[in-house]
Amino acid sequence: MNSQNYIDLEDEFGAHNYKPLNVVLNRGEGIWVWDVDGNKYMDCLSAYSAVNQGHCHPKIIAAAVEQTKKLTLTSRAFRNDQLGLFYRELCELTNSHKVLPMNSGAEAVETVIKTARKWGYLIKGIPEDKAEIIVCKENFHGRTITIVGFSTDENSRAGFGPFTPGFKIIPFGDAAALKEAITPNTAAFMVEPIQGEAGVIIPPAGYLNEVKAICEKNNVILILDEIQTGLGRTGKMLAEEHDGIEADLTLIGKALSGGFYPVSAVLSNKEVLGVLRPGEHGSTFGGNPLACAIARAALKVLVEENLVENAEKMGAYFKQGLSEIKNPRIKEVRGKGLLIAIELTKEAGGARGYCETLMEKGLLCKETHDNTIRFAPPLVITKDDIDWALERIESTLSGA
Ligand SMILES: *Cc1c(COP(=O)(O)O)cnc(C)c1O
Repeated sequence: MNSQNYIDLEDEFGAHNYKPLNVVLNRGEGIWVWDVDGNKYMDCLSAYSAVNQGHCHPKIIAAAVEQTKKLTLTSRAFRNDQLGLFYRELCELTNSHKVLPMNSGAEAVETVIKTARKWGYLIKGIPEDKAEIIVCKENFHGRTITIVGFSTDENSRAGFGPFTPGFKIIPFGDAAALKEAITPNTAAFMVEPIQGEAGVIIPPAGYLNEVKAICEKNNVILILDEIQTGLGRTGKMLAEEHDGIEADLTLIGKALSGGFYPVSAVLSNKEVLGVLRPGEHGSTFGGNPLACAIARAALKVLVEENLVENAEKMGAYFKQGLSEIKNPRIKEVRGKGLLIAIELTKEAGGARGYCETLMEKGLLCKETHDNTIRFAPPLVITKDDIDWALERIESTLSGA
């Protein structure tokens, strides 16, 4: 079968809820992936930051294979020997007290909403069914009915209502708007430290510090969704460290498994997770021994290979290189660590076409919204790799 055969199969039998670039991949190693025709590409998306450790990392493979042979799933009706070790290692790395493991990112978001509401009723004393959670415009927190209900992206919501009540939407990066939106019934404020899907939108300096102070003063839980920004992507283990703050509840996912398997977690610093009692929440696969073994290996790779530090250094180098490209089609280059975006002018004619040309030159990336290209390669990238990418990006933008 050739690429077109595989594409035809997907089109015929699959739902068309994605519009992927027409490249059919069947192998990956580090920052590189190969298509079924043997062409090699640099992956500058990293599955939306899920493969921070690089594709098919040998140490994660080894952990996965070993654990697969021993025990994969017990359900939480019984205990397993990987879970406690996973908890302790994750808490030590992220400076947390408690963990609740789930699978996809969206499940972690649903979990945190339930936890924050419960906390609101049990601890804060909010009257029954009145708890409010404040979120931001242009947020991306996942795809469930509740989550798309508080999205401001029409594509994500239209035709899926009725939605879950109890959410208030304020502008991102505006601490005064948060202060105004808080009422005695506000249980939590949930925000991404950097809005990834919105196009790598970085809030004004000091925003998270103000937000933290406002939440503390009003007895409101601060929830940071670090599913994309966490685990080294921005040059810190968690993006909150750039501002020296600690959220009450933090969400991680994606790179928690190095891209092997869906593993997500809710991290808690104030014992907020203590409000959940047996039987009130759960997941058949959450916290299973295979997931824990894979996540433990994925976390170990981040530390052993200094990937957080490399993200900071290589991110600065990449961003600098992009900033030096002189091209009237570039409106702005922005980013932190290896989460970087080029926003093109409207006159440039849309980001999609440039992504397609980059693919032909061997570099895979994806447009976010119409005019922005995101670059988020695996954190194992080197200077030489970045030079290789910069050459192709420069020539593509100039139409060469
Ligand atoms: C990807 C993502 C999610 C959702 O994760 P899934 O595993 O796709 O459900 C939630 N929040 C943010 C910030 C994300 O980037």
